[in-house]
Amino acid sequence: MDLVSGSPFWPLRNGLIASYPGLDASVECHVAVLGAGITGALVAWELAEAGVDVVVVDKRDVATGSTCASTCLLQYEVDTPLHRLVHLVGEAHAVRAYRACYAALKKIPRLDRVLGGGHGFRRAESLQGASRAAHLPGLRRELEMRRLHGFDVEWWSRARLARESTLPYPGALVARDAAQIDAHRFTHSLLRAASARGARVYDRTRVTRRTSTRGGVTLHTDRGVKIRARRLVVATGYETAPYLAEGLSKLVSTFALVTEPRAHFSGWPGERLIWETARPYVYLRKTDDGRALIGGYDEPACDPRRRAALLERKTTALARRFRQLLPKVPCEVAYAWGGTFAETPDGLPYIGAHPSAPHTFFTLGYGGNGITFSVIAAEIIRDLICEGRSRDAELFRFDRPAMV
Ligand SMILES: Cc1cc2nc3c(=O)[nH]c(=O)nc-3n(C[C@H](O)[C@H](O)[C@H](O)COP(=O)(O)OP(=O)(O)OC[C@H]3O[C@@H](n4cnc5c(N)ncnc54)[C@H](O)[C@@H]3O)c2cc1C
Repeated sequence: MDLVSGSPFWPLRNGLIASYPGLDASVECHVAVLGAGITGALVAWELAEAGVDVVVVDKRDVATGSTCASTCLLQYEVDTPLHRLVHLVGEAHAVRAYRACYAALKKIPRLDRVLGGGHGFRRAESLQGASRAAHLPGLRRELEMRRLHGFDVEWWSRARLARESTLPYPGALVARDAAQIDAHRFTHSLLRAASARGARVYDRTRVTRRTSTRGGVTLHTDRGVKIRARRLVVATGYETAPYLAEGLSKLVSTFALVTEPRAHFSGWPGERLIWETARPYVYLRKTDDGRALIGGYDEPACDPRRRAALLERKTTALARRFRQLLPKVPCEVAYAWGGTFAETPDGLPYIGAHPSAPHTFFTLGYGGNGITFSVIAAEIIRDLICEGRSRDAELFRFDRPAMV
């Protein structure tokens, strides 16, 4: 599947940071990681750190799947607000899921430091505006629910929004804990660090078939060579259909653009990430080279040809919304792109084993918080492989109770 249309910003800006060899001879390992996007890279890093013998394989150049298209806002709040999630999965489950995301968010700066920095990581607050007055009660319920469970959030009235920004929202919820990153660079650094700890990384090697044996899994590749592993981690992002028959998520198309760099962002409330309550929503952040990055306006289809055909219209719509929100900031579009994206019924990812796939773990970090979910997934998979259990695995298992 073609995961990206148009011109994603990060690979243009960063260039080809590193290349890995194709797999030319059959190999054996303890764990094979299928996919070298941010998810596979995090899994490989965690396992290599724990001393596990890992092979990573990708059919593309590493980090050029969905990861290179990501707008890379880092938030602990998932697409389903906490006050709704409690009705879908129960209060204890919902709060633990939010806390797991919060812990993942706090882990990313530590990883950034360990890897030497330079990944555009920056802490920020996240401002979610009520798109309409009718959304205010729901947003206030969310504020109360998050406060009740110890999350640091505050309310911005229309007057405060008008004082501190040009955002035309009738109210907003501001979460103190959020961040942003360049996931393309971060993925490269994770793979480099995992390689330094013994992980073997191969790109441009497509896995065409998987067979199970009593002792593990064999991956057959388009180069005619095989990978034999005791465990397989499927980190193929939105291309999981060949490995999992079940239709657990809905694939959609999403769109983004970056502007030309600007010296000032008059009317932007500080360095905050901005998003809104409308569905589909628009979200905004700044880049560390002084651009505005705007994304959203998802379409309920993932056909790459249709996505490419929609790109111009979606770019115009995103730019128009930007001008409504920040009329004092010129919106000169530099690059625009579209990508595949997935939603789950409760907004939580699927992580762990599935009865249809022996010796295999899945890391399906679907949803607006894909990167945060990948951090959680990497820890869970490491613990399941190294210790046989993980405290948080039950939160994201395939057969979790769903009241949707
Ligand atoms: C436009 C856009 C904006 C986004 N914004 C955000 C955001 O602001 N915040 C956030 O947290 N998340 C965001 N996301 C989601 C986030 O980008 C994804 O969750 C994340 O990049 C998924 O990473 P991944 O490693 O799982 O998948 P990918 O990066 O797609 O990596 C999977 C890899 O598997 C490889 N692969 C697949 N099949 C095979 C095979 N048969 N053989 C070998 N290799 C194979 C692919 O080549 C690919 O490189 C956004 C996504 C998009 C598209």
